[in-house]
Amino acid sequence: MNQQLYDQIIRNFFTCDPHAITEIFREFMLAVDAEGSLPPSPHMSQNYETAQANPEIHVLPGNLKDARDAVFPYFWGTDSWASPLHLENVKGPANYASLVGALACLLKNPNLCTDTYSQRSNELEVKAVTALANLLFYHTDDPWGVFTMGGTISNLYGAKIGIERVLPGAMQNGLGGVRVAGLVSDAAHYSNRSIAGWLGIGTEQLHAIPTDGALAMRLDLLAEKLEELHSDGVRVAFVTATFGTTDGGGIDDVAGIRRLIDDFAARHGVPAPQLHVDAAVGWVLSFLTEYDVTQNPLDFSPQLLALVRRAQTYTEGLRVADSITIDFHKMGWGHYPGSAFLVNHRPDLKYLSRTVADTPYFCEADARRDPALFTLECSRPALGPYTVMASLNGIGLTGWQLLVARALEFSQELKLRLEKLDYCKVLNLETTGPSVLWWVLPKGRDAKAIHQAVLDGTLPPERFTQYSGEIRRMFEKRERAMDASVDARLSFTTSIGHHPHGVALPAWKAVFFNPRTDRTVIDRLLYSIEELL
Ligand SMILES: *Cc1c(COP(=O)(O)O)cnc(C)c1O
Repeated sequence: MNQQLYDQIIRNFFTCDPHAITEIFREFMLAVDAEGSLPPSPHMSQNYETAQANPEIHVLPGNLKDARDAVFPYFWGTDSWASPLHLENVKGPANYASLVGALACLLKNPNLCTDTYSQRSNELEVKAVTALANLLFYHTDDPWGVFTMGGTISNLYGAKIGIERVLPGAMQNGLGGVRVAGLVSDAAHYSNRSIAGWLGIGTEQLHAIPTDGALAMRLDLLAEKLEELHSDGVRVAFVTATFGTTDGGGIDDVAGIRRLIDDFAARHGVPAPQLHVDAAVGWVLSFLTEYDVTQNPLDFSPQLLALVRRAQTYTEGLRVADSITIDFHKMGWGHYPGSAFLVNHRPDLKYLSRTVADTPYFCEADARRDPALFTLECSRPALGPYTVMASLNGIGLTGWQLLVARALEFSQELKLRLEKLDYCKVLNLETTGPSVLWWVLPKGRDAKAIHQAVLDGTLPPERFTQYSGEIRRMFEKRERAMDASVDARLSFTTSIGHHPHGVALPAWKAVFFNPRTDRTVIDRLLYSIEELL
């Protein structure tokens, strides 16, 4: 063996050289800094044409700069979403406390499978999920949770517990021909449908309950659906309430759903479905739960205090949820993946558990704390716990309150200013969240009257098709006229998740997700609608 070459590999790749590493990291950070002076448009075009044509691997061992060079163009061609002009979606810049946590994690590279392999990192996960559970369930007694790959997988855990509740042993025996269903709202995230498919209950067994004007599940229709399914011999495994719909910020009445499903279960002598809450986006409202609206220590405006009060009534509902999904990589401004699945009552994890005999690799696993005994995943990164605890304690409760309140304040301000324009109509005036959904019609149209006619069901479908075409064309017109250095980037949704008389409502969409977005961005957005269109 060529020992010299071997030693070179050990020296370059398996020996920590703080100088070489920080030097390369500094270069990456300089590039991030340079990006800050550019508009948030792609500053290097993609090259899918030959991405597969030359999948070359270097022949000879190189050094860390070769590693840098292998990824740099792709790094430079990727937007960090730090620009305050990004309002397209629930995607924002990662905060730097999270980076500190992430780097610490990457230096040790723990695997959260069992604590034999990662010692205190598993303890940090327990700390992080307990901190989050206390915030969301509000000082609950015996919570637990795990970090997962994303909101989709966290929702999957909730659904799976539900299946085991209504069909014990499904983990071992399968569904055995029993029809099992899950319920969500019409504005729920599409991941719930994927999950129904992947869990084997079938996407057709996921029923979407229509929403009201506030994009919240209609409880009268939920009650009807529960009865209908029961009388058809279907077992309802879970109701996944959405706490903050992705497009519009709609919030389902979690406490109302709790009462309804408990009553349903008692009347029919069946297990209550799992009440899972998909709070992937909306969980951050919980930072406001304890804000003292009387003392108002952070000097919130009266309008903002009204929103905070609304948020507080919503978050109260979370106390009766069985389980919750939160995405820290969304409004926690944390790094991916930072999703947690939280249970209110730890014994519920028994529905997911395996025995040590089922996990021979981990024969030393301790059922009191080792996640490997109930997680879907085997290896799990510890990025979630590290980025979450670094962010929570770096920014602090008060810091979080300011950040979340600012998003609510700005979305409300944009809503009210748009609503004043005759040819605009805001579609989510009643929701409390970071997003704004609205129509822009050509000047001269009465957007409110058209909207009312849609709600009343008095607008002929072909007329609505004409108007929705106009809403889309106005959006495209703005896109074409945009000055990338000053105009906010918006997005368009073809359906906000509310269907009055069966009509899908399209909308322009802006999400106040970037803490650096300021009023000048809102002013310019209104200018671009009033003056340029
Ligand atoms: C984003 C989102 C999800 C999916 O989460 P991922 O982390 O992207 O897998 C689920 N539900 C809601 C409401 C979401 O906004």
